[in-house]
Amino acid sequence: MNNPITNRTVKTIGIIGGGQLGLMIAEQAHCLGLQSICLDPAADAPAFAVCDAHIVARFDDAQALAELCRRSDAVTYEFENVPGGILVPLCEKYNIPQGYRPLYDSQDRLREKTNAREHGLLTPRFAAVNDEASLLAAVRTLGLPAVLKTRTLGYDGHGQCVLREEADLARARELLSVPCILEEFVPFDFEASVVLVADGRQVVSFPVGRNIHRDGILDRCIVPADADPTLLDRMRIESERFMRACGYRGILAIEYFVKGNDIYFNEMAPRPHNSGHYTIEGCTTNQFRELVRYLAGEPLHRPELTAPTVMKNILGEDLEAAVRIAAERHPNVCVHLYGKSESRPKRKMGHITFVGMTEEEFERNWSDRFVK
Ligand code: ADP
Repeated sequence: MNNPITNRTVKTIGIIGGGQLGLMIAEQAHCLGLQSICLDPAADAPAFAVCDAHIVARFDDAQALAELCRRSDAVTYEFENVPGGILVPLCEKYNIPQGYRPLYDSQDRLREKTNAREHGLLTPRFAAVNDEASLLAAVRTLGLPAVLKTRTLGYDGHGQCVLREEADLARARELLSVPCILEEFVPFDFEASVVLVADGRQVVSFPVGRNIHRDGILDRCIVPADADPTLLDRMRIESERFMRACGYRGILAIEYFVKGNDIYFNEMAPRPHNSGHYTIEGCTTNQFRELVRYLAGEPLHRPELTAPTVMKNILGEDLEAAVRIAAERHPNVCVHLYGKSESRPKRKMGHITFVGMTEEEFERNWSDRFVK
């Protein structure tokens, strides 16, 4: 396939990161007749089972990353914390079409929210916090409850705590060894997300999912989100406008809180997103495939939802149940197991997509099979 931007034939997709996202990118690259090579520090990374070649190396190993780039025609990342000092020179030399910008903008929560605001999205009110004095000042301005988060490296609810009353401030101290952000607590009606892919000409977006988190980790994603269609449409339009305004290309996932008519930006990630896994079976094309099409310079396909869908994440504690469900071979119940060698509670081990199923049907017929 010929990429019109670089005018080079794309045969091999390079992926920085070999987790489940890398695995599913590689699967979709294969579906489009492309090869893949993946870099990850873990010798047993899930994506290595599917990629045509792999490199075991740390994400800050500049030489190994350069080798990945040399052996690829277009490179993407599924790991969000590749240091800019390494990625920027690689972006100048090799074909990494998404570039470093969207990663840079998302790697620090303060920068991320400031950028979202500057490009037209509503965010919870926030303030930078570096020590106890600035925490107290921020609490005075924003009030309680509020959420204190580390500015960098947080994921799945790690590196944050909710402050409900003055007494909680003592608990917050352990986070303050690194730069933090304090955010107004949004008593949202629901959480939702949108995945978009842009190629500089068009932006395509996947149907909005309603997300249910447990202990800070995504548990279920329900599509279509059962909410006012005008509000969901506004979320999609604002997301597309934001992506264009920022000039981002490639894939972007945006998570929102919805309260009444207000749509608050929470965070974004320039990579495929857990809440978009439902698209593999629930849509006419999926988030991984459109990312690969973008990387290969092919025209994007506009996705349509094929049926109501529920995606259930499988953490370590639900792995046995998922294996049993897979063996039962239910039509339209698609079990994805990532092949991780070690299962732990709270570790993402797979997901199940229930196609043609509403949330009510899931609750009635399936939810008892999983740990509550
Ligand atoms: P992570 O990057 O670890 O996923 P998030 O910022 O998305 O962190 O927070 C994880 C979850 O915590 C969110 O999905 C939401 O349920 C809750 N949360 C985070 N920030 C707020 C907030 N400002 N108000 C209310 N709930 C929040």
